Amino acid sequence: MQAKTRIKKEDIVIATSGKERFARKTGRVLKIFPEKGRAIVEGFNLAKRHMRPTQKNPKGGIVQREGSINLSNIMLYCPRCQRGTRVGNRLLTDGTKVRYCRKCEEVIGKT
Ligand SMILES: [Zn+2]
Repeated sequence: MQAKTRIKKEDIVIATSGKERFARKTGRVLKIFPEKGRAIVEGFNLAKRHMRPTQKNPKGGIVQREGSINLSNIMLYCPRCQRGTRVGNRLLTDGTKVRYCRKCEEVIGKT
């Protein structure tokens, strides 16, 4: 089943569950896989990967890369409430559609 989400690339999100080591952490969404219901969030679910030497990185070695996280484990982060929140959509008088925090009405970003 696909999770319904309004989370988009570049959003700041907060981990609501999942592995304890990144619970309550906030991060920027780097990539979304809507068909898988997963996202890659900066600094979330870091895993060490062994890299083969390449031209760009001739030594190879171990790098830290973000693993994907289930969208149901993250929520859009409201800077004013300082917590994860549900968002609504609203049409401004100038015609822009924005998302807002349902708790404090803070506008979080365009839809
Ligand atoms: Zn809020």
